[in-house]
Amino acid sequence: MSRLFSGTPFDRPPTCDRCGKLESECSCPVLVAEKTYLDPKTQTARLKVEKRPKGKVVTCVSGLDANQNDLDGLAAKLKAKCGTGGTVKENVIEIQGDHLNKVSEALKLLGYQIKRL
Ligand SMILES: [Zn+2]
Repeated sequence: MSRLFSGTPFDRPPTCDRCGKLESECSCPVLVAEKTYLDPKTQTARLKVEKRPKGKVVTCVSGLDANQNDLDGLAAKLKAKCGTGGTVKENVIEIQGDHLNKVSEALKLLGYQIKRL
């Protein structure tokens, strides 16, 4: 009587964790590292109102790293909340107008610590 199986499980060639195929036959796409954002609770947003030339005033949110926060998404939320425009410049969100209270409130709701400069 011939043996149907030879070897032990430990002799198996390496297989892919995702599809279970042999690594040589696996065609799973290489995982793209996802951006990971920091927990807002561990971060402090610094708020201040800045005066710009021609009497313009902007509310600046700084102290949040663009690599660890979705600053574009955050800016969109703040703009909607304040009903105004704004931009993201590197690690600073600028909301047009003096909206310290609204911006502070919105960021607190998201979990951020707030520091007014
Ligand atoms: Zn695979």
